[in-house]
Amino acid sequence: MATLRALPSVHQLLEAPQASAMVASHGRPLVRFAVQRVIEEERRTGAIAEPEARWSAIERVIQELRRPRLRPVVNATGVILHTNLGRAPLAAAAAEAAAAIAGRYSTLEFDPQTGRRGRRHDLAADLLRHLSGAEGAAVVNNCAAAVLLMLTALAKGKEVIVARGELVEIGGGFRMPDVMRLSGARMVEVGTTNRTRAEDYAAAITPRTAAILKVHASNFQVIGFTQSVELKELAAIARQHQLLLLHDLGSGALVETAAYGLAEEPRIQDSLASGADLVACSADKLLGGPQAGLLLGRAALVDRVMKHPLARAVRVDKMTLAALIATLDLYLTQSPAGVPVWEMLGASAESIAARAQGWQRRLMEQGALAEVVAAESTVGGGSLPGERLATTALAITPRRGGGGAAELLRRLRQHEPPVIGRIVEERVLLDPRTVLPGEDDVIVEAVIAALV
Ligand SMILES: *Cc1c(COP(=O)(O)O)cnc(C)c1O
Repeated sequence: MATLRALPSVHQLLEAPQASAMVASHGRPLVRFAVQRVIEEERRTGAIAEPEARWSAIERVIQELRRPRLRPVVNATGVILHTNLGRAPLAAAAAEAAAAIAGRYSTLEFDPQTGRRGRRHDLAADLLRHLSGAEGAAVVNNCAAAVLLMLTALAKGKEVIVARGELVEIGGGFRMPDVMRLSGARMVEVGTTNRTRAEDYAAAITPRTAAILKVHASNFQVIGFTQSVELKELAAIARQHQLLLLHDLGSGALVETAAYGLAEEPRIQDSLASGADLVACSADKLLGGPQAGLLLGRAALVDRVMKHPLARAVRVDKMTLAALIATLDLYLTQSPAGVPVWEMLGASAESIAARAQGWQRRLMEQGALAEVVAAESTVGGGSLPGERLATTALAITPRRGGGGAAELLRRLRQHEPPVIGRIVEERVLLDPRTVLPGEDDVIVEAVIAALV
């Protein structure tokens, strides 16, 4: 075996004729990076490669590095707001709007009428006000930022009353008590895990109290012996004591979920109509837009919050704003047809079954067997926990001796673009509900490739 001394230097390798061809097509920095990585690996393991094998390894590393890390996948899991897969897919119009703004200069903070400076968060404000009935509206980076900003700007150094049953963790380390601490507001917990009464809130009010915070139970359910205080009642208490009522609504829906056969998810309009002074919600959950956080409510409060220095740290990007405005425009003009999340929620049982059967037929034509089975889709993304939507899925039984359903699932993931399914009773289920129009061919190709 060759010794480490036989290992060429990065410099020597970059001067070799094999390298110049690579540099010509991939650029010197990338080739240097790949060469360094391969040499380091050889040094670390002590396994010195033959030159030919080494050049192949370098080529492989280059290919790996050039493959986009952030790339499309086909979501066949049936989880509509799949956080790991990017939550809400944008409407075509929203994606086009973002792309149109991305590579150009824009009116982001500029009013062409007057030639003066504008405010970026005003761009979507009219639409948001109109759709929600809010007096004031602003956009920030996400709902977590909106909550942090609202608490910091309105309650820092003061007390905020919150029910123990609402001290939730949203995921990714976003825990209400931590956010509260970060904002500098002092959290005053009332009630118990399962029950909180109006008197609990009233009894906790002191001269230092700034606000009552209500946090929507987005991603969990408490069942059994439970009690919580309705927003309307909290609004009355807040008014009586001249406190602010802040609402972390989470999944800001503009549309009635009940009309889709789902449990009721409070809409932004409902929260405002019930008397919340300021509402924070996500734009990429049930709104079906880009990642953003919305702040809606009394104009003076929105203004005060957006003037806080922290607002700059959580400001929204131009591509996001373009996509958000285009999404809101769909609510105005075709409420909410064309918003993928709502198309998925509203997809008819027949259309879903027809797609699953279509996949089955095309697979059969190519000699692959699959079944069409009844299954359940979920909303996901911290919205409507426990809600299940009846669906029809394609069920693929793994080949005998082929590593089982987990291996089949893995092979589907290896496809380009990756197809993401789930395992139910040792079979791989692919749910048409979350597979976008135009992705049917990919499903069929990926299954054929995975079964060989
Ligand atoms: C989802 C959620 C958040 C966080 O929203 P992001 O947009 O992901 O930052 C905060 N609060 C509640 C109640 C939520 O449901």
